[in-house]
Amino acid sequence: MTKDNDQMSLIIDDSHQFIQIKRYGRADIEYKETSDILTRATGFMGDYDYTLNPYSGCSFGCTYCYAAFFSRKKEQVDNWGNWVVVKENAVKLLQRRKPGWLDGKLIYMSSVTDPYQPIERKLELTRRLLETMAERHKPKLMVQTRSQLVTRDIDLFKRIEERGGRVQVNMTVTTDDPDIMRTFEPICPPNPARLKAITKVQEAGITSCITMTPLLLVEDHQAFADALIDTGVRKFIAQPFHFKKGKFVAQTRSQAFELMSEKLGSGKDFDREYLNHYRQFVRVFKDKLRNNGLPPLGEGKEGFKPPW
Ligand code: SF4
Repeated sequence: MTKDNDQMSLIIDDSHQFIQIKRYGRADIEYKETSDILTRATGFMGDYDYTLNPYSGCSFGCTYCYAAFFSRKKEQVDNWGNWVVVKENAVKLLQRRKPGWLDGKLIYMSSVTDPYQPIERKLELTRRLLETMAERHKPKLMVQTRSQLVTRDIDLFKRIEERGGRVQVNMTVTTDDPDIMRTFEPICPPNPARLKAITKVQEAGITSCITMTPLLLVEDHQAFADALIDTGVRKFIAQPFHFKKGKFVAQTRSQAFELMSEKLGSGKDFDREYLNHYRQFVRVFKDKLRNNGLPPLGEGKEGFKPPW
């Protein structure tokens, strides 16, 4: 059966568990089998046992996303944000693992996509992976997202914990500046939705963390810091963006650099000004953490270490 409208084309296919959606919002959706759903964690994620990416590609399309550069084809890098590959056999692969195989294993979901893609709302692939983990394993699971959709799965985070596993949910927030957001993260959910979502996760009793990774420019240091702390979240991580080394997808680099130099009131070589800005904000934030009796700010790779 096929049903078309402006937004999407639905194909209900008896051989698949999914309703296949060829296009969702602005992203082309492709379905592919993968050889394994758990990847040995290395490098920045080296303190974890596995990374778990239900999708490849990401329709949030942050212009500075390093994950874009792991794409196999040049056109995928150039077209970052406009395509998503669904790993259609992901649940089957996880179900093949013996019950208990992931007990105590540190899993980072996800390292090169957001597990709460817009298409996840329809497909529930991440949800079914969580169900499988809750039923058969006791993992130590770190969930990293920018989407409010994460609140849909609070019941499963609780179930994993009730059965002896551990879960922490990280919500990324990088700036309070609408111009910066439009240039660097044009399609990500807005801050109020992200902050409301992480508040809900925290209030449900799931360990929560706000990751300012990378921290871009902050317009109002005091107000931004207060808004993050007012969520009730107790853990925070920050990391500066390395503009010199940083890669940008498609033609966004010059636009991003112009905006940064304009905002910082400097020339194109604004690295030092940016780092001063980062340090000033971090100082304000650390003071607020101290005054509110909260744990110290985690920074860089150390901050991302598993807490268990
Ligand atoms: S949400 Fe994460 S994975 Fe997706 S584009 Fe942004 S940085 Fe990349």
